[in-house]
Amino acid sequence: MFARFRPAQLAPGVPLIELDELWARGIRGIVLDVDNTLCAWQWGRAEVPGPVAAWVAQARERGFRLCIISNGRPGRVAGVAEVLGLPFIARARKPFRGGFRRALELLGTEPRATAAVGDQLLTDVWGANRMGLYSILVSAISPREFAGTKISRLIESVIRHRLGLPGVYST
Ligand SMILES: [Mg+2]
Repeated sequence: MFARFRPAQLAPGVPLIELDELWARGIRGIVLDVDNTLCAWQWGRAEVPGPVAAWVAQARERGFRLCIISNGRPGRVAGVAEVLGLPFIARARKPFRGGFRRALELLGTEPRATAAVGDQLLTDVWGANRMGLYSILVSAISPREFAGTKISRLIESVIRHRLGLPGVYST
């Protein structure tokens, strides 16, 4: 019952995801969540940590195709996408498949050649798994979260416990 929420890979943060290892797996496309994955949640501000921006640049140089997929509002997501120079899909309604399908169209990659990176089991990992993407769970950057996210984190913490996964901020 909980297997659908199990990530294929854990990483403490985006900068620590091994690009060579992904490439060796045949991964060519990467879809990235925004809030608490690429940056901390700040009202109206898109502040991407230096190591995250450096990782994105490295991935691009390595030949990966990247895009952003977020359930957030277009205005906010566009700010982060602009900083990183990536195409984006906002209001993606993860874990539903529609946003991921559009992301795959943008990237031009097959599901099995695509990784999805995010900090939430109930949206990022579940959505990626049901689409057949290679799911990577990262630790959330900051404990500051939207009210809705705080509620879903309660459910998530139960699932994490059942799957033997580490806590939200210590993946
Ligand atoms: Mg997130």
